[in-house]
Parts: sequence; C-alpha cells; structure tokens
Amino acid sequence: MAEDCIFCSIVSGEIPGRIVAETDHAVAFLDANPLAPGHTLVVPKQHYGRLSDVPGDEAAELFDAVHELSAAVEDAVDADAVSIGINDGEAAGQEIPHTHVHLVPRFDGDGGGSFHTISPASESPTDEELDEIAATIRGD
Ligand code: 5GP
Ligand code: ZN
Repeated sequence: MAEDCIFCSIVSGEIPGRIVAETDHAVAFLDANPLAPGHTLVVPKQHYGRLSDVPGDEAAELFDAVHELSAAVEDAVDADAVSIGINDGEAAGQEIPHTHVHLVPRFDGDGGGSFHTISPASESPTDEELDEIAATIRGD
C-alpha cells in the first residue's frame, strides 16, 4: 500500500468506496466523479503506477474482471455500449498514480467521442516507417 494513494485507501477499506466486484488481486468500484452513470474503475489491489508494472498473472486477473464487468456495468445502467480504457502515464491524462481501467457506459447520441478523439491524428506514416515501428515493437 502506498501512502497518500486514494485507491490504496479504497482497497484497504480505510475510506469508503462503492465496491462492485472483488477478486484476490483486483477490486472494482464506482468512480466518484463519473463521466456517465455506472462509470467504474478496476484496479489491482497492490499499488502499481503503470500497467507495465503489474505482474502478468495479476494483469490477467485485472482484465478478467474487466471482461466480466463490461456487460454487468452496461446492463446495470441500461447503456448501449461501454468505452474501456486506461490513461497509462501522465502524458495520457493519468491523474491517480495507481493504475486503473475505466469502464464508461455509453448511450446512443450521448455526444461523446471514440478512442480516436483522444489524440490529434499524426501525419500519415510511410510504409517504411510503419514497418520500422512494428519491427521495433516486436524486438527484431
Ligand atoms: P485518471 O485520470 O487517473 O485516469 O482517472 C482518475 C479517476 O479517478 C477519475 O475518473 C476520477 O473521477 C476518479 N477519482 C478521483 N478521486 C476519486 C475518489 O476519491 N474515489 C473514487 N471512487 N474515484 C475517484
Ligand atoms: Zn495505490
């Protein structure tokens, strides 16, 4: 548990949270400032800053919970869809430094955007540039 971490305090029960699911290594609770009714956060119980800090088995459990909750959250508020995402790092908009997955219920005509609206489009890369980036990610 990290000191002064609001999500660690919710996980430990030190401050109340509206918990909606719990497994050995993950907890889900309602966002206190929801973007939509039912906005839910899924967090590892241990304090990890970034997704890549989470050990593989705990990450698998985290995403199992996301998988289970996607339908449960959508149904609970009679939504039409769910946006699921992680602000992974400050430059991506992460404000709470305890990694978490957002499940944001979406409604037909709610005026929100898709994942493609979170970042300005980059200039179209050449085929060579795409090949080079793909090779780098693969570790060729
Ligand atoms: P981030 O920008 O780090 O991806 O998102 C942090 C989220 O945590 C925001 O959606 C914000 O509304 C939520 N949040 C901030 N403080 C609290 C809190 O004390 N309790 C709960 N349940 N959610 C919080
Ligand atoms: Zn924490």
